[in-house]
Amino acid sequence: MVEIRNLTKKYGNQLAVDNISFTVKKGEILGFLGPNGAGKSTTMNILTGYLSATDGTVLIDGYDVLDNPVLAKKKIGYLPEHPPLYLDMTVREYLDFVYDLKQVKEDREEHLSKICETVKITDVADRLIGNLSKGYKQRVGLAQAMAGNPEVLILDEPTVGLDPKQIIEIRSVIKKLGREHTVILSSHILQEVNAVCERLVIINKGRLVAGDTPENLGKSISNENKFQLRVAGDERSILDVLEKIGGIKYIKSLGRKEAGSIDFIIEAEPHVDVRASIFNALAEAKLPMLSLQTVDLSLEDIFLEVTKNQGKKEIADISEDEIEIVNQPKEKEDGAAEELAAQKEKIAEGADEDESDLQA
Ligand code: ADP
Ligand code: MG
Repeated sequence: MVEIRNLTKKYGNQLAVDNISFTVKKGEILGFLGPNGAGKSTTMNILTGYLSATDGTVLIDGYDVLDNPVLAKKKIGYLPEHPPLYLDMTVREYLDFVYDLKQVKEDREEHLSKICETVKITDVADRLIGNLSKGYKQRVGLAQAMAGNPEVLILDEPTVGLDPKQIIEIRSVIKKLGREHTVILSSHILQEVNAVCERLVIINKGRLVAGDTPENLGKSISNENKFQLRVAGDERSILDVLEKIGGIKYIKSLGRKEAGSIDFIIEAEPHVDVRASIFNALAEAKLPMLSLQTVDLSLEDIFLEVTKNQGKKEIADISEDEIEIVNQPKEKEDGAAEELAAQKEKIAEGADEDESDLQA
């Protein structure tokens, strides 16, 4: 349904997207995951035809976004990072405006009320967009993307800035949309893509570093070297034994999970099988090993694993908020006028573009 081939984007000398290729199948919800500045928005702006690529092609249902912009764009609904909302319009006025702008063919009443129901904004249809909460604004943004029933929905970080309750609501709306649409959802939040998406593509510094189902990603990135171990005995004696075994990278005590025993997480050096050594050393010290099992990598582990050793930035330099929202940014009060002006401009641009498409 969406095919991206060798896509590259340079801003001046800066390489923002570096030769990435991936495909999205019809009906799939694809998570496009990466830290801030990875190139997610740039890629999405190219997919939707808002930005031209320096190199490479994008096909939407077989239509090249550059060669066949009208046909390709008809198949796409886009919720950009900053949705182009008219704050001084009511929800209904705005959706009417979008309906006209996109030259939607479906019955106006039926189509718009169905969209409003899906994203749950029927109750606020007559309110000014500017007076709505950020969560509702985001739903109006989703509604505008859905106008015209595009087959593909491209959603750029749709939950940024929302509170936890709003996040859950938007996620459930997106899941519902996934039943009838092909969805590409970008995020820098691991839990989000894990909760919503069937497949993940991870981007870092403009390059694709992994792509698969969350489960397969866990398998493909070897976790053979990380174990959880339960040993009967006191912590100090067990640690004394474990610390003498070669090939172990680190040992972390998890404390008492079962009476009379201690659990540990052990990570071995790459390609070193330390299981027999652990068994023998503990047996010799008469400290019975009660269990030993490999630990599944969490999405966090996977993300850190695939994005490490990429360029100069080390894992330690990736601040926490780059991989997971800790503090939800507060909505800006000031600068609202500026924002409005910028959004109006965006809408005007969109209108121009549509017109030129029609003339073409
Ligand atoms: P993400 O959406 O993953 O946070 P972006 O696609 O916004 O990443 O940005 C990718 C890189 O390109 C970043 O280093 C960013 O600073 C740079 N960039 C984005 N937009 C522009 C622009 N208009 N001009 C120059 N550099 C840009
Ligand atoms: Mg972005």
